[in-house]
Amino acid sequence: MINIQSLTFSYPSGEFQLDIEKLSVASGEKVAFIGPSGSGKTTLLNLVAGILPLQNGSIKVDNDEISALSDTARRNFRITNIGFIFQDFGLLDYLDVRDNILHPYRITSALKLDSGVQGRADMLAEQMGIADKLLRHPSDLSHGERQRVAICRALLTGPKLILADEATGNLDPKNKLHILELLFESVKSHGATLLAVTHDQELLPNFDRVVNFNDFLQGEAI
Ligand code: ADP
Ligand code: MG
Repeated sequence: MINIQSLTFSYPSGEFQLDIEKLSVASGEKVAFIGPSGSGKTTLLNLVAGILPLQNGSIKVDNDEISALSDTARRNFRITNIGFIFQDFGLLDYLDVRDNILHPYRITSALKLDSGVQGRADMLAEQMGIADKLLRHPSDLSHGERQRVAICRALLTGPKLILADEATGNLDPKNKLHILELLFESVKSHGATLLAVTHDQELLPNFDRVVNFNDFLQGEAI
């Protein structure tokens, strides 16, 4: 599903360098990314999603070399195949919750918004416990509620790859397990692959594999 080789990446400013000789993730695998803050977990998710441009090396998602796609193709690939739950959620405040969840369908002709999709959006909102908040705007929600909106939006397309950046951070223990279960259910029912950044030691046994970003750090340990 994902094949990374000889990847190095650094930002124009700063000393940080990510260096991954080889990382492969099989289709359907659930992988936890752990490692200290600043070790490049978010950076790698952005590279896999094609949000950050690749500098050196290769990232293949389902045999597609991400950097070889045109900007438009990469964007459509991301919207149709990848569900990204951003660390800062990336919700649009001028849209209400319902339109935030449906947003992927409004920004590409590669997806078609029909009544089936609307029904799925309602069902996801129900499962996430935000069905009564559909007409609110993100600024009028709690942190945990915004997180759940971001998860609904990411799952709505039934993506084959789910990238979750601390999707269960800041949730109370009961909600945390519930949301993780929903993520895993979605992964299972779509045969999807999950890469999830987490700081929760107690969640790790739920994953097939743990990748520690300490292993990718160059130079001084952070
Ligand atoms: P993590 O998600 O593991 O906490 P990040 O991938 O967000 O780490 O960041 C890795 C490193 O890159 C950090 O040192 C961070 O300060 C730096 N960094 C992140 N984004 C940028 C940017 N846009 N410009 C320069 N440095 C950045
Ligand atoms: Mg991060």
